[in-house]
Amino acid sequence: MNLESARIEEIVKQVIANMGNAPAPAAKASAGGAIPKTSRVAMLTKLENFDVKEYPIPEIGDDDILVKVEGCGVCGTDAHEFKRDPFGLIPVALGHEGTGEIVKIGKNVTKDSAGKPLAVGDKVVTCMIFKDNPDITMFDLNKQNVGGADVYGLLPDDDIHLNGWFADYIVVRKGSSVFNVSDLDLDSRILIEPCAVLIHAVERAKTTGILRFNSRVVVQGCGPIGLICIAVLRTMGIENIVAVDGNEQRLAFAKEMGANASVNFKNIQGVEALAEAVKGAFGGYLADFAFQCTGSPVAHANIYKFIRNGGGLCELGFFINGGDATINPHFDICSKEITTVGSWVYTLRDYATTFDFLKRAKAIGLPMEKLITHKFELADINKALQTNLSMEGLKIAIVNK
Ligand SMILES: [Zn+2]
Repeated sequence: MNLESARIEEIVKQVIANMGNAPAPAAKASAGGAIPKTSRVAMLTKLENFDVKEYPIPEIGDDDILVKVEGCGVCGTDAHEFKRDPFGLIPVALGHEGTGEIVKIGKNVTKDSAGKPLAVGDKVVTCMIFKDNPDITMFDLNKQNVGGADVYGLLPDDDIHLNGWFADYIVVRKGSSVFNVSDLDLDSRILIEPCAVLIHAVERAKTTGILRFNSRVVVQGCGPIGLICIAVLRTMGIENIVAVDGNEQRLAFAKEMGANASVNFKNIQGVEALAEAVKGAFGGYLADFAFQCTGSPVAHANIYKFIRNGGGLCELGFFINGGDATINPHFDICSKEITTVGSWVYTLRDYATTFDFLKRAKAIGLPMEKLITHKFELADINKALQTNLSMEGLKIAIVNK
């Protein structure tokens, strides 16, 4: 309370001090009109409850960027945090799949994390905030991913408050990775973060040496992650894809996205019969490679049965702990000589690759924009999260007017 009023006092003093002065060269004004004094921020204050609060927009430093938020996807991670607070972050300003326009830029910021020029008016996404971890660099060929870095939308609350993308404005601070994506439309920009997860997974899959143009690939789980997985495979020229899910609507979408056959596990009793169905969908062959995109331990155990001897598996469904899975090491791994890779989140390098993927997916006619099935205004954020939890639709997004 005292802190709050002290801050407001400070800001008012600053505003008064600046009145009549020429605008500081460090803070170029936005082309899109004046910047308001306050910003709405959706603050998760308790389980299953956001309060849309109003906070002063702070002065930014010479290394910071003020971004006017245009939209932000709702992620499974947001839903977990909303429902159970597994990261213990409450109160927290969530939203990490966001994008918007630079309205103010510190004088030391001239380039994005990939070396592209950056200025007021550019559309950007953030990726992570570097801690003092020298292993994470843009062009490090090692597969170091975001472990050891912070991400906007999952930061503990502080006196800036504008830390998540479910807001009107976000302060992007020194040390953050930020990318100029002005050449992508809003829907594509909202999809960048989940798409980067799949770019990373497919890069991991490629390290097995098993994934080829003519590979038979099974994708298990047709939520946004599985559907984007199919899209990434298609942009690589892989066309023999079988989708597995329990929801007919999602399976139909998987085909629109480029799967050429689908298997609904709800219609099949037992894993042996399910494996036969997958085999049938490939014309009598098991898969050369499998992507496991569900968070279900049973699904993990099942997927080995879909893979041929000498085949490969990329497990990417367990972003968080989903419990233990029981497999038979002899039958599932050893005697089949299966090569398995795990995949978690992405690297900075994958982020840059993702921008090109999105352009390529559009160019070959994949219906990426259909992935965003629901758009809510910031004021309706609780409804947006409940919609996500109800498993209705696919990608849900908050879009600001
Ligand atoms: Zn996400």
